[in-house]
Amino acid sequence: MEKLVHGSAQDGTVRVMAAITTEVTREAVRRHQTSPTVSAALGRVLTGTLLLGASLKEFDRLTVKIECDGPVGGIVGEADKHGTVRGYVKNPAPELPVKENGKFDVGGVVGDGMFYVIRESGFDVGLHREPYVGSVPIVSGEIAEDFAYYLARSEQIPSAVLLGVLLQNTEPYVAAAGGVMIQMMPGANEHIITMIEDTIRHAPHITSVINEGAAPEDLIKLALGVIDFEILGEREVKFECNCSFERAVSLIGSLGNAEVESMLKEDKGASMTCGFCNETYNLTEENLQNILDS
Ligand code: ZN
Repeated sequence: MEKLVHGSAQDGTVRVMAAITTEVTREAVRRHQTSPTVSAALGRVLTGTLLLGASLKEFDRLTVKIECDGPVGGIVGEADKHGTVRGYVKNPAPELPVKENGKFDVGGVVGDGMFYVIRESGFDVGLHREPYVGSVPIVSGEIAEDFAYYLARSEQIPSAVLLGVLLQNTEPYVAAAGGVMIQMMPGANEHIITMIEDTIRHAPHITSVINEGAAPEDLIKLALGVIDFEILGEREVKFECNCSFERAVSLIGSLGNAEVESMLKEDKGASMTCGFCNETYNLTEENLQNILDS
């Protein structure tokens, strides 16, 4: 089981979140068959979405949506408050040469555009309130910087965000993934902020420590250095979609009898693929006849 932890330091003026998301990213990559650079981009978005969700008190669904003009075309991550995440990219295949520093050119596949955060709540009480939507322009497309910029600009929370995906040439392709987010709340000590920035600047890459078996708490230590912190909670994280055969049937049923009859007569069946997880549901002639009969 992979987990996400959240906690605080400095009497609650510093909030910390960290997660290992190797399995989450593997599942996303397996489902969407993404190129290496797009895998890194998608893994970072899913991890950042989970971490951002852990810092929010009240929401049912949190969506991070990147609309961009780079070859990936767009990236979406969607998390609930229990640690479940799903997501997709518009174009899974594009690839760019690695950068001079040996890193994937995530900023290159993303390009310019907008970074949206959509927070929906009220589902539990049967009351769907107007969603909260925040947006900022993409700053680098490297994802972690974009999350930090969003927090600073839209939520007035200065933050340090580290997100990483380490890939390998053989299956399951994702060797390690995870991230850490440090948020400075009002009243945070300036000296502490400088110390944290300095610690992060000199810290090893998070993916190499995750690859060596680090837990989320180790990622927080890596970012905070000698500063003490307290863990306040943890949750399991997983890539999971809420689509199902039943939902596919009800969606096709909602198209109306004329449409279903034509699927039955002309196509002798119907197939639907979920955009979020790439699962395909095939409906037989009998399934379609049942929809018409009901
Ligand atoms: Zn799905």
